[in-house]
Amino acid sequence: MSSVEKVERDKKANESVKVSKERKKLPLWLAGLILVLAGGSSYATIRLLTYVPPDVEPPVITLKGEPEIELKLGSEMPYEDAGATAWDERDGELSVATELPKIDVWKAGEYEVKYVVTDESGNVAEATRKVRVVAPTPVEGAVYLTFDDGPSEHTARLLDVLKKYDVKATFFVIGRDMDELIKREYDEGHSIGLHTFSHNYAYIYRNQNVFFEDLTAIQNKVRDITGHTSMLMRFPGGSSNTVSALYDGGTRIMSRLVTEVEARGFRYFDWNISSGDAGGVSTSDEVYNNVTSRLGPGEWIVLQHDTQGFSVDAVERIIQFGKKNGYQFKPLTMESYGAWHGVRN
Ligand SMILES: [Zn+2]
Repeated sequence: MSSVEKVERDKKANESVKVSKERKKLPLWLAGLILVLAGGSSYATIRLLTYVPPDVEPPVITLKGEPEIELKLGSEMPYEDAGATAWDERDGELSVATELPKIDVWKAGEYEVKYVVTDESGNVAEATRKVRVVAPTPVEGAVYLTFDDGPSEHTARLLDVLKKYDVKATFFVIGRDMDELIKREYDEGHSIGLHTFSHNYAYIYRNQNVFFEDLTAIQNKVRDITGHTSMLMRFPGGSSNTVSALYDGGTRIMSRLVTEVEARGFRYFDWNISSGDAGGVSTSDEVYNNVTSRLGPGEWIVLQHDTQGFSVDAVERIIQFGKKNGYQFKPLTMESYGAWHGVRN
């Protein structure tokens, strides 16, 4: 070992001695502190000396019930939320603010219930629950609700029901003095069809010229009110009516009219489900049963009259039945499927 090495070794040995001496001092310091704290000090004093870290942990929200809920379209109203609880490490149990959206069980879609809680240190926690309104498997085809002979004093509440369920229908109107209702029908997205101005069999089925004058009169009226020229029409009594034979002088006017309206660019519609509200039926239940019992896969043009209060009363239940069973409600357009009766005069 060289002398230099020896000096280095001794130096290291001294350092280690120094360190070990200092280490031995530490327990004395701690012991002293513990003695001071323990001896003669109250619990409060210890707390003053204890370091309290800031609360940065947000509370934890626990949902009651499932985090995702599926409701069948048309479920019982109203939706009731099971709520949530919140726990914070520092503050314990906290109350949760719930933001509940307006859940429309007649409209398929997804809604979010939101829960928010804030602890005493201002830490915020949020949680959500998904509520899904699920429509049934769609039935192939569609239901076209059609209302003839209006408007009437029952039309406004019919429009309210259609709006409530976001259903568009078709109104085959005549020349009544209720322009504001035709305007409302149009503005709310329904189709306006022409059903002649007078709806007077003895007059319109006299001859072709009179028929088209009367049809043009209601077309002009609808255009004045809505700004739209309707080319949709329905014959009073339907294309299969035989009442026209009483007034046409044996000219088989219906056979000529069905061809002529199309030649002039109109599209006419009959129906394949009659509610029976124009005769034989006088209650809302009968209207409901007549319509719903005939539905099935396919395209259905339903005939009702918004001049009949009891028939209008059945519409809400018909819509509910249709929506629960996967039917799509549509307004008639120039491109729609049509239902036609065989011409009998
Ligand atoms: Zn009619």
